[in-house]
Amino acid sequence: MSRVNLLGLRPSELEDLAVELGGSRYRGRQVATWIYRKGVLDLDVMSDLPKEFRASLRERGEIALPETERVTPSQDGSQKLVFRLEDGSRVSAVLMPDDDRLTLCLSTQVGCGFACAFCLTGTMGLTRNLTAAEIVGQLVSANRLCAEGRRVTHIVFMGMGEPLANYAALVTSLRIMTDGRLGLGYSPRRITVSTVGIVSGIERFGREGLGVNLAISLHAASDDVRSRLMPVNRSWSLETLLAAVRRYPLANRQRVFFEYVLLDGVNDSAEDARRLARLLRGIRAKVTLIPFNGWEGAEFRRPPLAKILQFQSTLLGAGVTTTVRWSKGEDIGAACGQLREPIPA
Ligand code: SAH
Repeated sequence: MSRVNLLGLRPSELEDLAVELGGSRYRGRQVATWIYRKGVLDLDVMSDLPKEFRASLRERGEIALPETERVTPSQDGSQKLVFRLEDGSRVSAVLMPDDDRLTLCLSTQVGCGFACAFCLTGTMGLTRNLTAAEIVGQLVSANRLCAEGRRVTHIVFMGMGEPLANYAALVTSLRIMTDGRLGLGYSPRRITVSTVGIVSGIERFGREGLGVNLAISLHAASDDVRSRLMPVNRSWSLETLLAAVRRYPLANRQRVFFEYVLLDGVNDSAEDARRLARLLRGIRAKVTLIPFNGWEGAEFRRPPLAKILQFQSTLLGAGVTTTVRWSKGEDIGAACGQLREPIPA
């Protein structure tokens, strides 16, 4: 039997494992507390666990973080973290400080299979899903890089890969992150999961009752344009997608986020903005405009600033809350849509 990485087990699964090893559920809770509450990954340090229990735990499992291979600082204060996984593949995460916030953007897959035309990660294709331990491991590693007394405050699933295409590991990692008693204790409202628009996944995800924020990568206001930019739109049209979003359970004052990458001459006209406002009618929405971040070989350009601001003001005029995301880490290949490992030469 291969050894299990305890870092990817939910507290209740750690309890089950403890019982399996002849201990009590309480032993499992102790392990969860050490790992997730105290950040201790060394079984030898878990002093309140009996020696024999620790020995059988070591036989069955390990507590392994992905190796932090590289940390690259950007001029804007963000940092790109590159992790080398056990099989040698690499994923990245980005740490972004902003006032008293520290946001971590993390990955869910090695590469991505959705092939959005404007996204560099999409050119990699999909290698494999990350395990829950590898997803949680990015967060635990990032927290260990933080200065004494600081930790990541907000988490966005917006790195490499499509979270809803790695459903089980996504949900397990979220349960570990949001368990306030024995897990990492993050408020679900500080976590955002972004999807390319997998309708079946959105519906199922809504039923999990996790309470995390949902972000939809929309990027176009007509099926024609969206299907050209995002092959996934050929499976689920805008209408189907927005119908699923309308049914996504929201808490009081919670909103659905929509990301819209602005591509010069492709989806940035005043008509596009008006169409977008119409599409979002009746949805408690917040739109984030992302001016296109370039990469070698891309066929798109970022619109001029005036055009970006015009698009925003058209939406605002139609009553749609809209902000512009000036991506961080562009100088280190860490901005939205620029994540690719290894970096193309
Ligand atoms: N697969 C998920 C998670 C990735 S989130 C999703 O699609 O939502 C990364 C965000 O950056 C997505 O909204 C993506 O569409 C956007 N993006 C991709 N390439 C980009 C680029 N070159 N410039 C700006 N944003 C980009």
